[in-house]
Amino acid sequence: MERERKITEAPGVGKKAAGDLLSLGVRTLSDMIRFRPRAYDDRREERRFRDASIEDASISCRITIMGHSEFSSKAGRTLKVTAMDDDGTRVEILCFNRYFLKQQLRLGSSWYIYGKAIKNRSVYQISSFEIKRTKEESGIGRILPIYPLTGSLTEKLMRNAQIYSLSALSPIEDELPLEMYERLSLMHHDMAYNAIHFPSTMEEAKAALATLAFTELLLMELEVLRRKPQRKETGESKLSLIEQKFLGKLPFTLTDDQVNASAEIRKDIDSPTPMNRLLQGDVGSGKTLVAWLTALHAIAKGKQVAFMAPTELLARQHADGAAALLSPFGVRIAFITGSVKGESRKLLLRSLREGTTDLVIGTHALFSEDVVFKNLGYVIIDEQHRFGVQQREALKKKGDRADILSMTATPIPRSLALTLFADYSVSVLRSMPKGRIPVKTYLVSEEKRDSMYESVGVEFKRLHQAYFVYPRIDDEGDSDLRDVTTMFEFLKEKYHGVPSALIHSKLPDDEKMAILRDFKAKKLMYLVATSVVEVGIDIPDATCMIIEHAERFGLAALHQLRGRVGRSTLPSYCFLVYSGNLTDEAKARLKVMKETNDGFKIAEKDLEIRGPGEITGDRQSGFLHLHFASLTSDLDLVEKARKEAERIVEDDRGLLKAENAVLREALARKVLQDK
Ligand code: ADP
Ligand code: MG
Repeated sequence: MERERKITEAPGVGKKAAGDLLSLGVRTLSDMIRFRPRAYDDRREERRFRDASIEDASISCRITIMGHSEFSSKAGRTLKVTAMDDDGTRVEILCFNRYFLKQQLRLGSSWYIYGKAIKNRSVYQISSFEIKRTKEESGIGRILPIYPLTGSLTEKLMRNAQIYSLSALSPIEDELPLEMYERLSLMHHDMAYNAIHFPSTMEEAKAALATLAFTELLLMELEVLRRKPQRKETGESKLSLIEQKFLGKLPFTLTDDQVNASAEIRKDIDSPTPMNRLLQGDVGSGKTLVAWLTALHAIAKGKQVAFMAPTELLARQHADGAAALLSPFGVRIAFITGSVKGESRKLLLRSLREGTTDLVIGTHALFSEDVVFKNLGYVIIDEQHRFGVQQREALKKKGDRADILSMTATPIPRSLALTLFADYSVSVLRSMPKGRIPVKTYLVSEEKRDSMYESVGVEFKRLHQAYFVYPRIDDEGDSDLRDVTTMFEFLKEKYHGVPSALIHSKLPDDEKMAILRDFKAKKLMYLVATSVVEVGIDIPDATCMIIEHAERFGLAALHQLRGRVGRSTLPSYCFLVYSGNLTDEAKARLKVMKETNDGFKIAEKDLEIRGPGEITGDRQSGFLHLHFASLTSDLDLVEKARKEAERIVEDDRGLLKAENAVLREALARKVLQDK
């Protein structure tokens, strides 16, 4: 079969090169043409030596050999060839470790040279260069691809193997339905594959890339859409008595989004198909409450519920919260982490096995092997992006067709969320609870530090609390960075008599928890902390977040940290203290923080500033093998591909129509390749 032709067919590709190519993911000729150049070497413009001083310019021109001499250097006896270009400019070619060139570069012969030259006093010199007999061989006048290399591979070998692959597979068939090319202004695939490797202009390379990236995304979207389970709609699901009582006792009413999200979840819990749902909501939007309310629904149906949080600290906070909110309604709650040991662990495990615990809250210790449930029906995962796919799967397997709710505060642009979480249903909490006042953010330079301390002092008098966050635990002696240990002492003096505590990752969990409890009980007025307070901590009366060296934190971390305040109806403040000369990127980040509180906007800005990042986490690697497209920087293409895929699937889910045959084949091929 054509596509199974191995890369070893190509001239110059022996065993060793084939092994190196394989490590780059290239096994066949067809893999080769899909191997994307990382850049291009534009040799179109003829540049003679006079142009050597143009920034970044490489010389690419014809020369005639005038003479030979030698000199000694660290490399030993070194050949120096004198030559002249077509302008008549005299140049020296320093042939370090290439004495053999003396035989080839005969007096009076003409060559094409390519490389970077410098002007040394009044003489042009070139020491790193390619030199070829013919213009064709030298690539001068053309744009050459530059590939990522490894091991024994060279650009020359790659280019030759590419040329071979392209011609061996020629003509390359279209990969999209015919009508799409014109409608969407795409390049036919034969041309696109040729042009991505050997474009005649940079625009052509770009257009080829757009076509190939779109094709890849379209196939991905088709796969995702076709895989998505088609749910049958069921009717309304009623609140159980215990849920109604719970809602009646709440000191506030649910937001509309909370009402809708919990109704969607209830429906899923009542339906026989297992739920796989993502609950997206910005920091402070009240996800936990939706979790508890729906947990009650499952418990009322006789199921056990497991709630998993990424850290012991968070798990304990949630266990405390659940105990306060749910045990009055007879819910039997247990708490498990790695540090629950001995007799109490035995008892706990037994209660899970026998079904005398309704709701268990814990860390990843929840999926230890010895944890067995009687009837696990509903799994809730807080801060789901902090867990790997395997961890989530492991917990799910503890139940029989358990419903899963994954909660996240990481905002992702919509098209991306639809793609990455295609196998999820999605509920979103957009609105914040009533009465919330957006956190006011101030950028504070070193000189204005005192007035900031004063403002925070005023808040203490009102019995409002604060977090002071620093990037370091100790003074490591080598820098001007403030650290928690030093600043704790400093602040103690500043706010004499105001009770406070130091909290960082090196404290034992019990101690951290005790501190948080005291903070919640207002026995402490402020915490001096590292970013351990970044995720999930919920103290409603904390109104001030002070982040020092804010320029060192990423946007996502800053947004999470700021989310620790503004969690009640009190006005709150975030002070971002910066020092020294800011990089442009740091300036841009701080500006975004000052301008908006909206997590989605911040995520988009983050993408813009940082470029393709990590936001896709472990989902990137799984089923998505992308050569040409980037899920983070090609958002508009993702959107376009999504639309086309929706149109196609709506019209012809099985891809049975003649015009969609190419897509069906491409998908089948892709499944094979991904294996
Ligand atoms: P997050 O979505 O960041 O996990 P939480 O679930 O921790 O947010 O909720 C933030 C705070 O808002 C908590 O103190 C919670 O009790 C409170 N809260 C939740 N829902 C409402 C509501 N509808 N009205 C008022 N306060 C609410
Ligand atoms: Mg939370």
